[in-house]
This record gives sequence, C-alpha cells and structure tokens, in this order.
Amino acid sequence: TATPVTVTVTGAAGQIGYALLFRIASGQLLGADVPVTLNLLEIPQAVKAAEGTAMELDDCAFPLLRGINIYDDAKKAFEGCNVALLVGARPRTKGMERGDLLEANGGIFAPQGKAINDGAADDIRVLVVGNPANTNALIAQHAAPDVPAERFTAMTRLDHNRAIAQLAKKLNVPLTEIKKMTIWGNHSATQYPDLYNAEVGGKIAAEQVDETWLKEEFIPTVAKRGAAIIEARGASSAASAANAAIDHVFDWVNGTPEGDWTSAAIPSDGSYGIPEGIISSFPVVSKNGKWEIVQGLEINEFSRQKIDASVAELLEERDAVKSLGLI
Ligand code: NDP
Repeated sequence: TATPVTVTVTGAAGQIGYALLFRIASGQLLGADVPVTLNLLEIPQAVKAAEGTAMELDDCAFPLLRGINIYDDAKKAFEGCNVALLVGARPRTKGMERGDLLEANGGIFAPQGKAINDGAADDIRVLVVGNPANTNALIAQHAAPDVPAERFTAMTRLDHNRAIAQLAKKLNVPLTEIKKMTIWGNHSATQYPDLYNAEVGGKIAAEQVDETWLKEEFIPTVAKRGAAIIEARGASSAASAANAAIDHVFDWVNGTPEGDWTSAAIPSDGSYGIPEGIISSFPVVSKNGKWEIVQGLEINEFSRQKIDASVAELLEERDAVKSLGLI
C-alpha cells in the first residue's frame, strides 16, 4: 500500500471545510487510488466542531482515509504536510479598514507560512482560499523562504468555473464546448474574465456574444457572483468554493488536459507585463506537477486596461503588507 499523502486543511470547521473534507477523503483531491491523512487546523474555540466533522468522516468509512489529526497549533498541523489548503481567514467585518484586514490576516498567514517552511514535506503545495487570497498567499510565501515560491498559489478557479458556466448558459451550449477561459488578476471584484482568448466550439468566445453583454453583464455577473449567492442562499458559497479547490489541486498534481488551460493565481514571472513576484491569476497549464503560464496570448486594449486595474489593486495590497512589515 502506498504511503498516504498528508493534506492539511485550515479553517476545517468552517463551511467550506465542511464541503471540502469529505471530497478529499473520498479521493477526489488527488485521485481514486491515493490514500490520505487529514490534518485539521482550527482556532481553539472551533476544535470541538472540527472533532464533530472528524466523527462524521469516520462514519463514512472512506477506504482511502488513513487518519485524521486535529490541531490548534500550526507547527504540528503542517509537520510532513504535502498539500496545504489554507481556508481559514479573518473575514472583513463592518467598519474594518483594509489595513486592519491585512494585518489580521498577517497574524494568521505569516505563522502558517513559517510552519510550512519549517515542517512541511519537500513536495509541499499550498493553495490559499481564505480572503484576501492572493495577498494572504504572498504573506505565507514570504514567511517560507526555503520553499520554492511557485508552491504558493491562490484560488481563482471558482471564478474560472463561474465564467464557463455563465458563458455556456448564455450560448446554450454544453460546458465542455468551452475552452481556454482565463481569469486575470486578483480574486476580487476587479478580476477580469477574458472572453477574447476563450473558445466556444473552437471559435473565439467574444465573437459569439454581443459586446454589451460581455462588458455590462458577463464581467460583473462573474465578479459579483459571490454576493448574489449570499443574497439568495443567506450564506456564502461553500460547496462551489470547495469544488474549485479540489479542481485546482487535482489539476496541479495530475496535469491539465491537452488543448485547454485553466486559471490559477501564481507568483508572476513578469509575463504579460504583470510585475514579478505578485501572486496574480493567469492562464495556466499544469505539466509534471508544475504550473506554467500560457504564453503568447493576444491582449487587446480593453483587456489590457482590465488586467492593469486588477494588477494595480494587487500592487496596493502588496505595498500595504510591506509597510506592515508582513513581507
Ligand atoms: P468559510 O469556510 O465560508 O470561508 C473561509 C474563507 O474562504 C473566507 O476567508 C472566505 O472569504 C473564503 N472564500 C474564498 N472564496 C470563497 C467563495 N467563493 N465563497 C465563500 N468564501 C470564500 O468561512 P467560515 O467562517 O464558515 O469558516 C472559517 C473557519 O476558519 C472557522 O471555523 C474559523 O474558526 C477558522 N479559522 C481558522 C484559522 C486557523 O486555522 N488558524 C484562522 C482563522 C479562521 P470571505 O470572508 O471573503 O467570504
């Protein structure tokens, strides 16, 4: 029997955690033949709730689940970790300034980055889900100087999947007809879903829809989908966020399909004029366990403005955490 892969989930007792853990334990994160050990990290007051989830995980009798450990100490939770899903974060509360939000998250993601640096396995892969995800990933990455920077990523896969779903609905085509979708920039309202490089049945998506719909409906619908779900459901998206986290890690480990790409926020190498080092969403393929930015795409003037605006926001966040001494 293969050695189990250690997957650490932070914020494990939260609602995304609840939607995520069962899918990891059933083999959907890494593959149907890969045994896993789950390390759950929570703040002390949520440990009891995590224990309840662990009881339910036991009760599923998942053949691939080789063990569950629950911690309130990051050092222990990341010991030997191969895949880290950083879900727990400090949400923005009413009246909170961005600086306070970033500082509170610095207090979470810097110690977690250090714990990853000191104790994780050599093949550690990190996905940050907790918002502001791109900048939280940057904080964790800077606290882990011995881990290759490229192992720190943030999630824009939910935005990517939302964009595919909206376009398929609009054109009344199966989702599988849509390829080469890209989310650029920050996982925030400034994100840019790009239909000028996406394809529907092999043809450029932007040429299949009218420009007004693209600019005035599609882009804001994708960017504001989270708020629309809160409005309808009375709670934020959880199952779809967990699903996107599964998609991101599965593709990272197992590769993206030939002839297509996906979106992930990864440290920029300067491609497309996006400043090196910031964690921005790009069109990416995964090969041999590594993300690679898809090169050579045409960026028209509209796209350029949209990408630049989102990147400007990422640079502001980076500068704010720099001035707080977090990176
Ligand atoms: P959720 O599980 O609903 O959300 C967790 C994080 O995911 C939030 O930062 C949320 O951002 C983010 N997120 C990213 N994408 C999405 C999306 N598409 N839809 C919804 N959320 C998204 O939060 P809960 O409050 O239910 O649970 C959080 C848990 O984390 C709690 O149990 C808490 O105790 C724990 N926690 C653990 C820490 C640790 O382990 N050290 C530290 C801090 C918290 P947004 O807020 O913007 O919606």
